[in-house]
Amino acid sequence: MRKLRESRSAKRSAKIQVIGCGEAFDVDLGNTSYLFSGVGYPSILFDCGYQIPERLWKAELHSSLDAVCFTHLHADHSFGIVPLLMRYWEEKRRKPLDIFGPRCIQTYVRKLFDLGYPGAFNRLGFSLRFHEFSPAKPLTWKGLKFSTARTVHSVLNLTIRVDLKGMAKSFAVSGDGQITEETMRLVEDVDLLFQEVYTAEPEVPVHADLQTVAAFVARARLKKVLIAHQGRGEKPRVLWRVSQLAKKDRRWGVSRVGLASRLVWG
Ligand SMILES: [Zn+2]
Ligand SMILES: [Zn+2]
Repeated sequence: MRKLRESRSAKRSAKIQVIGCGEAFDVDLGNTSYLFSGVGYPSILFDCGYQIPERLWKAELHSSLDAVCFTHLHADHSFGIVPLLMRYWEEKRRKPLDIFGPRCIQTYVRKLFDLGYPGAFNRLGFSLRFHEFSPAKPLTWKGLKFSTARTVHSVLNLTIRVDLKGMAKSFAVSGDGQITEETMRLVEDVDLLFQEVYTAEPEVPVHADLQTVAAFVARARLKKVLIAHQGRGEKPRVLWRVSQLAKKDRRWGVSRVGLASRLVWG
């Protein structure tokens, strides 16, 4: 029995690719977005801002997607869903697409799509299956367990933790917003945390800052933290401070476009 379990887990592997790691209007880094994929797991895009579809199409990464997962519904995290869906229609996609997000995700995507391409929704040719996240109730789907917790942001934003069944590994995507007691508990021991750091100091109440995040990481058991979504004017200051932190604590790093963090275990 043990051997059977081992051989099953040996077949599984996963990686997370950084599609973009900038804030809302950063032309170099693109909107923050990650692509999870692997052997034995579905392929999931985490956030799909308006700059993201072009990046997926260029690298031909879009056709393998099984799901899109939203931390929150700001334009830099969600407006790419309309062109993504419309190009699937052009390409005659038949495979269903699962869409995960905060409450009212179905109404939001439908409204957005109808504004972009009125009358086209019912002709898409593939089904959309919606799943609402609730911090009170983790969700299990295709070998993955999703748990969420709310940050402090100008709209409802959920930090999403994903546990990979069969590999006993985990990662989390913060989305936007200041960290809270609930998000800290959620990600305290993850293998990999993609964390928004918008400013160096706690200046903007609805965004995470390096000082607050660093105080949390220092006492957390998490194994790796890669920062993203720096404010455009804050980039040099934040990056320099992260490089100083990384000298003393190798868990610190910076999300870079194209960087693939491999999660491979036997
Ligand atoms: Zn954002
Ligand atoms: Zn936001």
